[in-house]
Amino acid sequence: LVPGLISQTLDDDDVEVAREWLSKPESWHGYEVSEALASAFARWNGSLSGCAFLGGRVALSACLHALDLKPGDEVIVPGYTCVVVPNAIRFAGLRVVYSDIETETYGLDVNHLAAKLTERTRAVLIQHLYGLVCRDLEATLSFAKRYNLAVIEDCAHATGAQFKGRRVGNFGDVAFFSFERSKVLTTIIGGLAVTNRRDLAERLRQFWERAPGPSSEHVQRQLLNVPLDYYQSKSGSRWLSSEVIEAKYGAYRLVSTSEEEIRGIRPQHYGCRMPDPIAALGLNQLRKLDAYNRSRRDNAVRWERWCEANGYAKPVVVADSEPVFLRYPVIVEPEKKRSRAWALAELGVELGVWFVSQVHPGPEVVTACPTAEEAVRRCVNFPCLFP
Ligand SMILES: *Cc1c(COP(=O)(O)O)cnc(C)c1O
Repeated sequence: LVPGLISQTLDDDDVEVAREWLSKPESWHGYEVSEALASAFARWNGSLSGCAFLGGRVALSACLHALDLKPGDEVIVPGYTCVVVPNAIRFAGLRVVYSDIETETYGLDVNHLAAKLTERTRAVLIQHLYGLVCRDLEATLSFAKRYNLAVIEDCAHATGAQFKGRRVGNFGDVAFFSFERSKVLTTIIGGLAVTNRRDLAERLRQFWERAPGPSSEHVQRQLLNVPLDYYQSKSGSRWLSSEVIEAKYGAYRLVSTSEEEIRGIRPQHYGCRMPDPIAALGLNQLRKLDAYNRSRRDNAVRWERWCEANGYAKPVVVADSEPVFLRYPVIVEPEKKRSRAWALAELGVELGVWFVSQVHPGPEVVTACPTAEEAVRRCVNFPCLFP
């Protein structure tokens, strides 16, 4: 098995959890474990309160609801993001304003923010990409305070990263995390929103209570993706070959972002909360998260050495921060991003190419963000967990 790009945090015990829940369809539409996961995660993160959804993008929708923004309000977003981020903002009737990034940590560059302010600016979304704490975190927080803007933290890549001894997701007004199959922990599809503000906690909860649950068909399908991912990307067990698993479960494979969604169209079943079977997986993943994050940090040393030996700049770990290294990002020559085969041949790993476009992987053209454009041309990433 080649160290690849999906989470690598699924184990036999997660497959066991999926099996157990597959055998009791009468419990697929409960929400008690979902609440238990949300509380356990919030406690683990040092946050006041949380709610679990089917997707980080849905958790972002919940954050926007919590902030009570009005149609036409503007949210400043890095011009180097995942398509589901601007989608969630636009689905809420709000406007997206892109601002450029820096390539030390791939976060918003605070120096460009003032030029993006208008009378309608109400919020700024900061990202901790690749598991790095973003460089301009404190400067962006003071900027937001000065102009009375809400701060949303996108922690989709950075579950467990810390700054000054506090986990990310505690610095803005609201934050969201992703448990998608390529993230720091995984429930195949999933996410969570947290806050430390009592008023926002109530509104998050309100969104959660009103959110529909997924169909039985979806729950079954998502649970079947656990053995599918595990046996195809991690398990060394030879008795269940990749082909056997493909034949058995391949037809159930879920894609996290449909073609429609990539083009900005709201999917029909957008906005579900997380039901118990998926939350049970989340609880099992959370139990192992700190240990896996330690391995990610240990494995990142290999890429630091590679950068040093080959004359590439290492990503910046800001003072007093502890990253999680979901991936190890490096700026390389554009041709090394265009053809990925060299990484497999020379390094024995699958090369990550997030982001292939500024609103990854969507076609939207973002203007006036030259550094983000450069990152699209030149930033590759290496896996930091190995099967
Ligand atoms: C994955 C991701 C999201 C959304 O998470 P989903 O769980 O896939 O909805 C948001 N922001 C960034 C930067 C991401 O990479």
